[in-house]
Amino acid sequence: MTEGFLPYGRQTIEDDDIAAVAAALRGDLLTTGPTVEAFETAFREVVGARHAVACSSGTAALHMTMLAAGIGPGDVCIVPSITFLATANCAAYVGADVVFADVDRDSGLMTAETLAGALDRAKGRRVRAVLPVHLRGDVCDMPALAVLAREAGAVLVEDAPHALGSCFVHGNELDQVGDCAHSAMSTFSFHPVKTIATGEGGMVTTNDAGLAERLRRARSHGMTRTPGADPWLYEMAEPGFNYRLPDINCALGLSQLAKLPRFIARRRALAAAYETALAPLAPIVRPAARPEGSRPVLHLMTVLIDFAAAGKSRRQVVDALAARGIGSQVHYIPVHTQPYWRARNGALDLPGAQAWYDRCLSLPLYPAMADGDVARVVETLADVLA
Ligand SMILES: *Cc1c(COP(=O)(O)O)cnc(C)c1O
Repeated sequence: MTEGFLPYGRQTIEDDDIAAVAAALRGDLLTTGPTVEAFETAFREVVGARHAVACSSGTAALHMTMLAAGIGPGDVCIVPSITFLATANCAAYVGADVVFADVDRDSGLMTAETLAGALDRAKGRRVRAVLPVHLRGDVCDMPALAVLAREAGAVLVEDAPHALGSCFVHGNELDQVGDCAHSAMSTFSFHPVKTIATGEGGMVTTNDAGLAERLRRARSHGMTRTPGADPWLYEMAEPGFNYRLPDINCALGLSQLAKLPRFIARRRALAAAYETALAPLAPIVRPAARPEGSRPVLHLMTVLIDFAAAGKSRRQVVDALAARGIGSQVHYIPVHTQPYWRARNGALDLPGAQAWYDRCLSLPLYPAMADGDVARVVETLADVLA
């Protein structure tokens, strides 16, 4: 019964999700219909932002933030090196340069210190955006990053696909990721491994009506319509894209969003079970460090493994786990070491990112895991490392 393969993450799709999609397929509008706005409204209410703009992927969401913020050639974006490729690619899409920030070696996150280091390296250049990533669901110290971004004259864009439901506590305040309390915009993804799934899909949240307007324009060809004008008329001041999210996917998103409290409770319970079960494996295996104030809903159960002390390579551990039905993944290869960025920016030494990459491994974590699965993963990992 416990012998099925456990991937590192997977979607939870139930009969009512399927029924919601089927109902959308019977509707009049498969795209640009009323379900888009319904999903946006429900989403912004959940995260506590004034505006939400749905789009076709988390990558499209990032690209739209660059377009909405007017970032272009000659501008610099600061991106942590430990993230998915898309966080840096969005700057390249608009012709901007990327200066990679290092990360804390034990949390994998951009910190005030690593951002200050990147700003130092970018001195004399036009830094227009800083894109912190709430890696695995733990939340960056946004108030501290906001101070530095403001001094630099840069907008803060939170790349938050891992952190739907996560919060950050500072003083008496509790910020919900996506409420944009300290940032201009936040981006989300609904790829199947993320907290809720729409197949492909994304969202940008903001409290700024002007940004929301520009995000919507960028999403649909750069078209604008004037209320009261001839019904066929539209205008384009600048080319946009087709980054729309169809009603079919929004119907799935709405259905999934209604389950978010249950998904959150399940992820929190599984993460707590992991922390208890992993404790005896220290110091060879430790969960990623929790930054002060972070109240995460973990998207990834990332552990740091001292492979040298265990006398095993990561490849040996990954292969041995897979042979026993347990999936794992590396989040992430430092983006600054990718051939494209190395050719563009030259070689760069980021010791925190390297130390993180050398040790990180993400273990299975998703709501449909059975209670016994955590024990099975940890026992197998202990066995493989012994
Ligand atoms: C998943 C992800 C993206 C991209 O989202 P897609 O929907 O796959 O395009 C961007 N950034 C981070 C941190 C992600 O995890």
